[in-house]
Amino acid sequence: MGNQLSERAPGGPFLPGLAQSLHIVVVGLDSSGKTSLLYRLKLGEFVETVPTKGFNMERVRLSGGGGGGLYQVWDVGGQDKQRPLWKAYARRTDGLVFVVDAADTERLEEARAELHRMARCPESQGAPILLLANKQDLPGAMTPAQVEKALSVHELSPSTLLHTQGCSALDGDGLQPGLDLLHDMILQQRRSQRQSRKKR
Ligand code: GDP
Repeated sequence: MGNQLSERAPGGPFLPGLAQSLHIVVVGLDSSGKTSLLYRLKLGEFVETVPTKGFNMERVRLSGGGGGGLYQVWDVGGQDKQRPLWKAYARRTDGLVFVVDAADTERLEEARAELHRMARCPESQGAPILLLANKQDLPGAMTPAQVEKALSVHELSPSTLLHTQGCSALDGDGLQPGLDLLHDMILQQRRSQRQSRKKR
């Protein structure tokens, strides 16, 4: 599955405290599991994917937890030629999900460079980041803390809201807690933006 645009779910009720569905952009290196995560969220099951050329977009309605509601999720291709497009998709996004294959230790440096590039780009300024350490089901997968260290998260700007969460698109573990964290960060971000507007 993949490489198709579908909008099967209608627009609808919203998250408490938010006026519309959330616009979430999912980025990460190719094969990190972005498309699998998108369809795990959409369909509640693991589906075989093909590498994303361009993007996939799905409207996903999640129930329960602080992060319940309607999400518009963009999964943007991760091959190096497609990465310059990330910035364009990140424009005016509510939150970014950066997916890492936690079992692939050889590409951590590449993932680190892309995460830092993305966090610095003006288009995504202020958007909270959920760092997903995916493929936790695989033996030898790094823990979220190890991924955070390998990606030098502490070197990002202190104003960047970021949480790291371990997950598996294969069995779905960790996804709901991750989205709850992202939802909380988005609310926090909006509150602080409102406060700084009032001060002006
Ligand atoms: P993308 O290029 O980032 O969209 O990655 P895909 O979603 O196409 O996944 C790349 C490969 O990793 C596919 O063979 C998936 O079946 C596999 N994969 C994705 N997520 C997981 C996971 O959580 N666990 C395992 N074991 N394999 C995964």
